[in-house]
Amino acid sequence: GDRALERAGDSAEADAATARLRTAVAERTGSDAEASTVSHATTFGVARSRLTALRVGRVLAIGDAAHEVSPIGGQGMNLGLIDAVTLAPLLARWIRYGDAPPELAAWERARLRAADLSGRLAAANTTLGRPHGAA
Ligand SMILES: Cc1cc2nc3c(=O)[nH]c(=O)nc-3n(C[C@H](O)[C@H](O)[C@H](O)COP(=O)(O)OP(=O)(O)OC[C@H]3O[C@@H](n4cnc5c(N)ncnc54)[C@H](O)[C@@H]3O)c2cc1C
Repeated sequence: GDRALERAGDSAEADAATARLRTAVAERTGSDAEASTVSHATTFGVARSRLTALRVGRVLAIGDAAHEVSPIGGQGMNLGLIDAVTLAPLLARWIRYGDAPPELAAWERARLRAADLSGRLAAANTTLGRPHGAA
């Protein structure tokens, strides 16, 4: 995907984003005074990615490192938090008893399915949020 995230020190890009937002506010409100209240704008990219496996031996991936979905739709952080909450009891058992719990395989399948579903919903929300013609 397009990873045009604003980085610290990327001030020319930040100034351009702020100018674009001021113009948009001025056009929509018809008020330069309203537009001048915009002090800062940030941009973000829309990316989608997913690992094919969340576990290799003792290495586990959760959150955006495992699956990134479009931010339009508000799914990404929820996905990552549920990864963590559902993995925690399995890790606790692993540490306590010394062996990897066999349920880890089902956990991995369920979290990959959830990431796929959220990715599709977020992609649909992103498409719906784009400008469309009058029809
Ligand atoms: C504009 C926008 C709006 C969003 N709105 C929503 C929403 O409404 N609801 C929702 O559920 N989700 C939303 N999301 C998604 C959500 O922000 C992410 O899914 C979530 O932050 C992912 O958390 P994470 O901890 O997995 O990864 P990150 O938040 O990316 O955290 C990873 C951290 O690791 C650090 N890091 C990277 N490499 C290294 C390294 N080599 N050494 C040390 N540290 C490193 C990074 O600096 C970062 O702090 C939104 C995202 C965007 C961009």
